[in-house]
Amino acid sequence: MTQINIEVNSEANTRRISMVESCFGTSGQPLGVPGRVLVGEGVLTKMCRKKRKARQFFLFNDILVYGNIVINKKKYNKQHIIPLEEVKLQNLDDDAQSCNGWLIKTASKSFAVFAATNIEKKEWMAHITKCIEDLLRKSGKKAVEEHAAVWVPDGDASTCMHCRKTQFTFVNRRHHCRKCGAVVCGPCSSKRYLLPSQSSKPLRVCLHCYEELTSAQKQTANDHNIRNNADTSGEEDTDDEDEANKTVESHDLPKFYE
Ligand SMILES: [Zn+2]
Ligand SMILES: [Zn+2]
Repeated sequence: MTQINIEVNSEANTRRISMVESCFGTSGQPLGVPGRVLVGEGVLTKMCRKKRKARQFFLFNDILVYGNIVINKKKYNKQHIIPLEEVKLQNLDDDAQSCNGWLIKTASKSFAVFAATNIEKKEWMAHITKCIEDLLRKSGKKAVEEHAAVWVPDGDASTCMHCRKTQFTFVNRRHHCRKCGAVVCGPCSSKRYLLPSQSSKPLRVCLHCYEELTSAQKQTANDHNIRNNADTSGEEDTDDEDEANKTVESHDLPKFYE
C-alpha cells in the first residue's frame, strides 16, 4: 500500500468513526482513539431475555460496540462497549428455531447473536476472530478463560430448572442464576455468591451452583469470598430490554472496511 493510500484510508476511517459517534450522540462514549480502526458494521439480532432484538454492531480493531436502533443508520442509543481482548466466540449449530448464530462470551457478560445469512455469519466471525488474534498477539496477553454464563431465555422455561416444580406466573417470577444462566424460582435462587469477574457484589446463584461453588471453595480452604446473604439485596434481574424497539424493515448487508 502506498503512503497516499494509507492517508486516504485513515481519513476515511476517522470520518467513519466520527459518524458512529454522532449517531450515538450524547448517549455514547467518545470513540476516536489513536490507532483505532472501524473494521465493519451491520445489524445482528441479539438474544435478549425475552426475545431477539435487532441491534447495530460496530467492530473496531480493539472493541465491539453495539446499540439499539432508534432510526436506522441515523440514531442509536444504549451503547455497549466490549473490549475484544476479553471476547471469545463460540459457534452455535443451526436448529429448527435459530440459524446463523454464535455466542459472544466475555468475563462479565455472554450472549447469542444471529446474522441474516450463513455468509454474513462467517464474515462477522472471521473478522472478529482476526481482531482478537491481532490484539492478543500485540499485547502478548492470554485469552480470558472464564466467561459469564449465557442466560437461558425466559420463554425456554415455564417451570423452574432447578426444582422442576415451580410454575412461573406473575407472582412466581423468573430469576437467572449468574453462574450457569438457568431460569430458576425465588427459593431455588435465594443464595448469593461473589463472582468477581461479573460484579463486586455477591450475585444471585441457583442452589446447585451455590453448592458447587462452596464445596470448591472449601477445598481450596479459601473461604473469604463466601457470602451467604439469604435476604434479597433488592437487586432486580435486568437486561438491556427496551420496549421502544424499531424493527429493521429492509435487510442491509454488513459492511467491512478492512
Ligand atoms: Zn425452583
Ligand atoms: Zn446455577
